[in-house]
Amino acid sequence: MKHGIGILGIAGRMGQMLVEEVAASGAPLAGGVDKSSATGDERRFASVADLAAIAEVVIDFTHASAAASHADALAEAGTAWILGTSGLSLADEARVEAAAARIPVVYAPNFAPGVTLLLSLAETMAASLPAARYDAEIVEMHHRQKVDAPSGTAIGLGRAVATGRGVKLEDVMESGRHGHTGARKEGAIGFAALRGGQVVGEHSLLFAAADEHIALTHRAFDRRAFAAGAVRAALWVRGRPAGLYSMKDVLGLA
Ligand code: NAD
Repeated sequence: MKHGIGILGIAGRMGQMLVEEVAASGAPLAGGVDKSSATGDERRFASVADLAAIAEVVIDFTHASAAASHADALAEAGTAWILGTSGLSLADEARVEAAAARIPVVYAPNFAPGVTLLLSLAETMAASLPAARYDAEIVEMHHRQKVDAPSGTAIGLGRAVATGRGVKLEDVMESGRHGHTGARKEGAIGFAALRGGQVVGEHSLLFAAADEHIALTHRAFDRRAFAAGAVRAALWVRGRPAGLYSMKDVLGLA
C-alpha cells in the first residue's frame, strides 16, 4: 500500500523547504530523490521509480530536462504528481498531458495562492481591455541562480492574458527585445526578465494604454509560499481521478 509524500529535488532550495512544510502538515514524508550527492537526514532513493513504488504522491521541483522521464516513471507507477518545475518545452508539456491521462497531475507555474488569484484577474482584465488599445507587458525579477527565462509564472501570466483575448500565447509573444526590433506589434504580449541578488520572485503585469496604465504586482518574499501551496496540492490530490489540474482547482477557483 502506497503511503506518504515523496520529494524530487529534495536537496534543492525548494526541496529543503518542502521537507519542512510536509513535516508541518503532519503527513508522512516517504523520502526523496536528488541527482546531487548533498546529504540530508531524509531517506534517499536511487531513482524516481523506486520512490514512486512506495509514495502515494510526489512533489517535483527539479529541472525541465527531467520532466519527460518523471512523467513516464510516475504514470507507470500510478503515483500522483505535483509538478512545480519551470522551463518545460511544449514537447515536455505534451508528455505531462499524456501522463495526466493515467495519473492525477497538479501542474502550476507558481504554487503561491496570491499568484493563482493574479492569474484569474489577468484573464478577466485581458477579456475586458481591448488588445488594440491596451498593450500587455510582463516584467519579472528573480535571484541570480535562476536558469530559465522568462519565468514559468511570467509565461503563465502571458497565457492567462492570451486566453482572455482568445489567442495563442505562442502567436503573440515578444520576449528578449534587443536592437532594431521595429515598432511594437498590435496585440503583442511582451516579456522582460531581470536577474540579480536573491529575489525570490517578483511579477508585474502592465496594461498600458495611451491614457491610462493598470498594473498588477505580486512579490514573494519567502519560498515557503510556494512550498506550502505545493503541500496543500499534494494533500488535495490524494484519491482524485487521473487528469491535469491547476492550483485554481486546488483552491476551488476553477
Ligand atoms: P535548485 O537548483 O535549488 O534545486 C533543484 C534540485 O533538483 C537540485 O538539488 C538538483 O540537484 C535537483 N535535480 C535536478 N535535476 C534532477 C533530476 N533529473 N533528478 C533528480 N534531481 C534533480 O532549484 P529550486 O530553486 O529549488 O527550483 C527548482 C525548480 O522549481 C526550478 O525549475 C524553479 O524555477 C521551480 N520553481 C517553481 C516554483 C513554483 O511555484 N512552481 C517556485 C519556485 C521554484
